[in-house]
Amino acid sequence: VLISSERADRPNEFAHAPVHRNASIECPFCPGNEHLTPPEVLTYTDRGAGTWTLRVVPNKYPAIGMQADPEIAGAHEVIIESPEHHATLGQQLMRAVRDRMLYWKQDERIRYVQFFKNSGEAAGASLEHPHSQLIALPMVPARVREELDGSARYFEDHGRCFFCDELREGARLILETDQVQAVAPWAPRFGFETWILPKAHESHFENTEPAAVQALNGALRIIIGKLDEAAAHPAYNVILHTAPLHEPELEHYHWHLEILPRITGVAGFEWATGYFINSTEPEEYARLLRDSP
Ligand SMILES: [Zn+2]
Ligand SMILES: [Zn+2]
Ligand SMILES: [Zn+2]
Repeated sequence: VLISSERADRPNEFAHAPVHRNASIECPFCPGNEHLTPPEVLTYTDRGAGTWTLRVVPNKYPAIGMQADPEIAGAHEVIIESPEHHATLGQQLMRAVRDRMLYWKQDERIRYVQFFKNSGEAAGASLEHPHSQLIALPMVPARVREELDGSARYFEDHGRCFFCDELREGARLILETDQVQAVAPWAPRFGFETWILPKAHESHFENTEPAAVQALNGALRIIIGKLDEAAAHPAYNVILHTAPLHEPELEHYHWHLEILPRITGVAGFEWATGYFINSTEPEEYARLLRDSP
């Protein structure tokens, strides 16, 4: 990452694209329209209200999986995070991610389950009802492998986990609870990029205690709220990085959520090199997010 604050002053003819709120036509994720999606593979319900609070369904337009190609093991699922069309982020989202990862872990052909959320048109979302996705893959993604290798090198050099070291930093700390910390990473690719990590070292997300998963979900909701305040409702992606399903516990790797606001675009240099130019210092926006309601 190249951090260059001079670039913040360059003229910009295009304001960043915030999240648009459209009047809903017929939303396939709203209650009453369940027939518009394939049948659920997981449902949470509210006993009191007698309704569902979260549904996971196979993607009707899968990128991978038996439906797309029976020769290739994989699956593409959609998590409908809330029955409320205008909610921001579901309260049981990360619990559902853990449940589905434990499910796919039983299938030996599946090596990795990638969780991601696209919010806003600029981040690749095509529907505004709060939802996110899981893609079960028969291989470990290259970007994940790169991170695993990098953290193994750091462990070799320092004798410590890179992510545990990130947790100690004061000026980049945004939020802390008993179980998790949200930090501005050492080398953020985007302004307001935030990582949420468990304070206890854990390489596999699916092995994390339900209480810590719930704390993570709470912290994620708070960070998105702060981001909406500090950066005027930007489009964003949330991704989970965790150790591959069938690898043993790793002392050099530590699962984490990355929140990537799409305030600046990914352009030619980034596509060409895999390097990112960021005009914001992490300490600077960490303070803004810390002070945001
Ligand atoms: Zn809806
Ligand atoms: Zn660690
Ligand atoms: Zn990562």
